[in-house]
Amino acid sequence: MSIIAFVDSYQKKIKKSAFEVVSYAKNIADQSGKGLKVVAFNVDDVSELEKYGATDIIKVNDAQLDAFSAKTYAEALLSVTEGSIYVLSHSNMGSSIGAFLSIKKQATLITNVLSIPSSMSPFTVKRKSFSGKGIMEVTAATDQIVVTVMPNSFGAQEAAGTGSISEASATTSGNTITVNSIAETSGKVSLKEADIVVSGGRGLKGPENWGMVEELADLLGAATACSKPVADIGWRPHSEHVGQTGIALAPNLYIAIGISGAIQHLAGVNASKKILVINNDPEAPFFKAADYGVCGDAFEVVPALIEKIKAAKA
Ligand SMILES: Cc1cc2nc3c(=O)[nH]c(=O)nc-3n(C[C@H](O)[C@H](O)[C@H](O)COP(=O)(O)OP(=O)(O)OC[C@H]3O[C@@H](n4cnc5c(N)ncnc54)[C@H](O)[C@@H]3O)c2cc1C
Repeated sequence: MSIIAFVDSYQKKIKKSAFEVVSYAKNIADQSGKGLKVVAFNVDDVSELEKYGATDIIKVNDAQLDAFSAKTYAEALLSVTEGSIYVLSHSNMGSSIGAFLSIKKQATLITNVLSIPSSMSPFTVKRKSFSGKGIMEVTAATDQIVVTVMPNSFGAQEAAGTGSISEASATTSGNTITVNSIAETSGKVSLKEADIVVSGGRGLKGPENWGMVEELADLLGAATACSKPVADIGWRPHSEHVGQTGIALAPNLYIAIGISGAIQHLAGVNASKKILVINNDPEAPFFKAADYGVCGDAFEVVPALIEKIKAAKA
């Protein structure tokens, strides 16, 4: 049976994390000698998936998949293809479909996966655990497996080859979810998809000081984020709150400005590839988790950094 990769999408467009999922699934397919099938729901153009090794793409266009329901998506996925290993992104969409899939297939569910399998038989892989404080190596107890891959952990890797695109119709027990309205978040770059995240904490003193955070993020093509109290006080929207009770991230670079580095905050960001901390307290716990640290006043350091980046870009 094939390896199945599920394509995360938003408003009919493929999300960046889907290219990583296809790359990951291609790696498993190559290791196991099995075929790879890539399934996309209600996506306008799936051809870009071919660049990442998707040779067999199944496109499903169906109005009952317009509103996201994990149960309906899992049923639809199983109705168009059968696989032994299902690979999804550890996004809200992927992880909720993964849970339904694992129940329906009686499969081992391995979430927050960080690396390619060290063994295909038995399937053994590393995953993030204990809110990112630990890495656990787990072995699947069944041949049927569902994995959700932590965004930015494996990377999207281009692979040679051309694909074939077919269309299929899904069968489900019916979607009972109706979307009445969609509220767009204000950020220009999607936080979960971002390569670089510029984040601010209570050290920034007030919402009126976020201009420099946004300017730095714009210059770097980054998304903006914040600590929990900042969202709780209403300085920033809750969609930007990262940490144990907020969004978990794994960008290539996380810039933390005026954030103490409490364990609950670190739980959401410690999978970042590199962390730059700007804080005026040399004892701030965040420095222990940082790859680069600037001990100084954010109101001096950030504008100076902005000027340096502008000069470098000029
Ligand atoms: C159950 C639970 C869940 C939680 N979940 C989360 C979560 O998901 N995410 C989260 O973020 N928190 C979470 N928290 C809260 C967490 O414990 C911390 O209280 C919070 O992260 C602190 O936010 P902060 O660092 O912005 O503020 P503070 O703790 O007030 O730290 C501000 C920092 O800014 C620095 N600073 C001050 N002025 C300047 C300046 N001019 N220049 C540079 N630096 C300056 C200070 O030295 C300090 O380090 C949770 C707490 C609990 C109990």
